[in-house]
Amino acid sequence: MTDNSVNVKEIENLIKIISKLPGLGPKSAKRIVLKLINNKEEIIKPLTNTLAEVYKNIIRCKICGNLKSINSICSCSSKKYEQICVVENIADMWVIESTGIYKGHYHILGGTLPSLESKKDDGLLIKSLIDRVSKNSIKEVILATSATVEGQTTAHYIQDSLKNMNVKISKLAQGLPVGGEIEYLDDGTLFSAFKNRGPVATD
Ligand SMILES: [Zn+2]
Repeated sequence: MTDNSVNVKEIENLIKIISKLPGLGPKSAKRIVLKLINNKEEIIKPLTNTLAEVYKNIIRCKICGNLKSINSICSCSSKKYEQICVVENIADMWVIESTGIYKGHYHILGGTLPSLESKKDDGLLIKSLIDRVSKNSIKEVILATSATVEGQTTAHYIQDSLKNMNVKISKLAQGLPVGGEIEYLDDGTLFSAFKNRGPVATD
């Protein structure tokens, strides 16, 4: 820290770690640390235990990419289902879940393919998606990747990988946002809107 308001090593370290969390800078990290220190029994103690438990027990399922407890069987292997919604990461899944629009199973890729040229699915759970589709006789795969170039590249790659399987593949409509002027759209959105264009209704 550059200022002298904090000069206890343990506290400095804690501030450094907390300021790495999303949405927090050094200022709010300091406020949080102060709150923690003033509530050692009520907050630090249970927080320490909970963090240790999460560190020990929570892992990513190697099949669907979702978080699971190390000792439990993931719901991707324990239940029967016919639909899979494919997302890039867990945060995306949580956003879709919170809308309540879809209550089925998810497949979390763990990122996107970098570009059309390098179709190496390093670490992405694409092969396990194909396995899931065939093993569970999945009827519909919903591709919910971002409207970015990378997200769309990934969607096309998955579409391609599943094309010989008897499964319906659908994609989120990623058209022009309401009020979105073409000039101010990013390339990915425009590309997507163009590619997914449909006939104009006439009456
Ligand atoms: Zn799973």
